Amino acid sequence: MKLYDISLPLSEDLPTWPGDPKLSIRLAASLLQGDDANVTRLDMSVHSGTHIDAPFHFEPEGIGVDALPLEILIGPCRLFDLGSPLNGIDAAQLKGLDLKGIKRVLLKTRNSTRWAQGDTAFHRDYVYLTTEGSEYLISQGVQLVGIDALSIEKYAYPGHPTHHALLRNQVVILEGLDLSPVPAGDYELIALPLKLKGADGAPTRAILRALDTEMNH
Ligand SMILES: [Zn+2]
Repeated sequence: MKLYDISLPLSEDLPTWPGDPKLSIRLAASLLQGDDANVTRLDMSVHSGTHIDAPFHFEPEGIGVDALPLEILIGPCRLFDLGSPLNGIDAAQLKGLDLKGIKRVLLKTRNSTRWAQGDTAFHRDYVYLTTEGSEYLISQGVQLVGIDALSIEKYAYPGHPTHHALLRNQVVILEGLDLSPVPAGDYELIALPLKLKGADGAPTRAILRALDTEMNH
């Protein structure tokens, strides 16, 4: 059964969110330097690369990433390829998609092309989910939404209404996906964030498993 790794490789080449800590992966001990072992030291924002946002990211009383239900993080999902050169994914766009019975939604956009090209710059003009778009997904019973941008929200959008709408409604936000190698269709999603106690998010290894009957949308 085919597996797709839709996680970004964490490295110092990865673009990080402006203002967030720079990602640093260095050897704290090194065999080449005469140490007993290679030991890597990691310093990064939890919103680096492929990651999950927990309600605590924007809600002071929200739960941490370790408290997110595994039942949402693993299960059937539908990947939509929105292809066209849109900027904000709005409700009108989403109404054209078959979301019936779908709890987990992945949105593939032109953002994935940049990952595929190995683009290491941070671009502000990424495709995002509008507030109306997020409200529409909530109204349809969606419990997890993934996107191929480092943030699901328009860059520097005041008040972060998309994040608030999703997180207040216990919708899991999966960001920083590389969906470039994956055709639209139905898959099993396995997206497991590190179990960081009470944290506002965590780096996540996200995998899609192809189903026997792959259908295209
Ligand atoms: Zn985030």
